[in-house]
Amino acid sequence: MTNTLALLGGEPVVSAGLPHFVWPPIDGATEGKILGQLRTAVSIPGRSGIVAELEDALQDYFGARHAVTLSSGTSALHAAYFAARIKPGDEVIVPAWTFHATASPLFHLRATPVLCETGPDGNIDPTRVEELITPRTRALMVTHLWGRPAAMLALQGIADAHGLALLEDGSHAHGASHSGKKIGTFGRAGAFSLNGPKPLSGGEGGFVLTDDDDTYYRLLTFAHYNKRAKSEIPERHPLARYAVTGAGLKLRIHPLAAALAHDQLGHLDAYLAGRAGIAAYLAAEFARIPGLEVIPMPDGVVPSWYGLTLVYHPEELGGLGIERFHQALLAEGAAEFDRPGSTCPLNRLPLYQGPSLLFPGHPDAQRHYKAGDFPVAEHVHTHMIKLPVWHREQDLELAASYVRAAVKVSDHHEELLT
Ligand SMILES: *Cc1c(COP(=O)(O)O)cnc(C)c1O
Repeated sequence: MTNTLALLGGEPVVSAGLPHFVWPPIDGATEGKILGQLRTAVSIPGRSGIVAELEDALQDYFGARHAVTLSSGTSALHAAYFAARIKPGDEVIVPAWTFHATASPLFHLRATPVLCETGPDGNIDPTRVEELITPRTRALMVTHLWGRPAAMLALQGIADAHGLALLEDGSHAHGASHSGKKIGTFGRAGAFSLNGPKPLSGGEGGFVLTDDDDTYYRLLTFAHYNKRAKSEIPERHPLARYAVTGAGLKLRIHPLAAALAHDQLGHLDAYLAGRAGIAAYLAAEFARIPGLEVIPMPDGVVPSWYGLTLVYHPEELGGLGIERFHQALLAEGAAEFDRPGSTCPLNRLPLYQGPSLLFPGHPDAQRHYKAGDFPVAEHVHTHMIKLPVWHREQDLELAASYVRAAVKVSDHHEELLT
C-alpha cells in the first residue's frame, strides 16, 4: 500500500466491497416470518394477528401499558400531539436540531413549534428551556439524537414544574435508556419510527407508547377509526361516539411491516449489545486521531448507537475544511462516513422560516427563524461526521479499516492544504 492519499491518486485503505452497512439484518427466519404473514393476512383492521403480537411485544419490551402501531414515525408524532390535546395557538418546545418530523405535524394542528437551543452533543439543552415557556406553552418534546439519551431527569423536572406534557421522539433510540428507564417511557407519550435504517425497523411504520388510558383512546381515535376504535374505546367514554369516523385519518401499519418489526424486536437487545462493543472500540480509536473529537456519553445512559458522532476540529489540522477532509475519507473507500443532511437545525428549513405559504393564517406566520439563530446546534451540525455502528463481531475488521482511513487522512492532512 502506498501512503499517498487516495484523493491524490493513492491506494484506498478500505478494500471491502460495498455496501458496508446493511439494515435491517434479514436472515432466513425473517424471510419465513414475512412469507408466513403474507399467507395469513395483509390487512388487519382491528387489534389482532401480527398487529396485536407486535403491540404486546412492544408493551413487554418497554414496560408500557399501551403500544399503538401506526403507518410511520411521522404519523406517530402527529397522533401523539393530537392525543396530548395540542390545539390551535398552543406552543410546543422542541429541540432546534432534530429530524423535522419531530415538530412538523404541529403545523397541521395549527400549533407553534418553539425551537430550543441544543448542547454541544446535539440534544436539547435543559438550561435553555425555561426561558421559552409562555402562558401558551403546552408541551415539551424531546429527541434523543443519534440514539444518545437526552437529559431526561432535568427535562422531566422542568415539565412537571410548569405543568407541561412531556413527549418523546424515540426514533433514533429504541432500547436506549436513561437512569435504568427506557427512552420513550418518561412522559405522557413516546413516539417512534420503524423506518428503514432506524435501530428497530419494519421498513416503514411507527408506534406510540403511553401508560395513560385517555391518551390511548385519543391515539386510536386519531389513527384507527372504525373497527378498532369501536372494539377498544369503552362505550361510556366520550370518544366512543366518534368511533366510526375517528378524527378522519387512517394511519395503520402494514401487516408485513409489523411482521418485520416483530422479528427485529426479538433481536434488538443483541443488536444493541453488539453495537455497544464496536462503538467502544471506535470511540477509543477516534479519540486519538487529531482533528476528531468523540463527545463523551454522560453517566447513567445506555445509547442505541444509531450513529457514532464525531466533531471535526479544523484548527487541529491546519484549518483544513471539513468538506475536503470528508472527501478524502470517502476516497479512501470509507463510504459510510457521512455528514448529517436532512436531519439539521430546523431554523435552516423553509417550513420553519416561513410556514404561511403552506399554512395560510398560521399563528406562527410572524415568527421567522433564520440561519444563525441557534449557534451551538448549527456549529455542531456543520462540524459533524458520523458513522453507522456495526453490531456483528465479524464487522470489527471493517470498523478497523475505517479507523485506518481516518488516521491516514489526519496524518496526511498537509497534502490537502495546498
Ligand atoms: C425517521 C424519523 C422520524 C420520522 O419517521 P418516519 O417513519 O420516517 O415517518 C421522526 N423523527 C425522527 C427523529 C426520525 O429519525
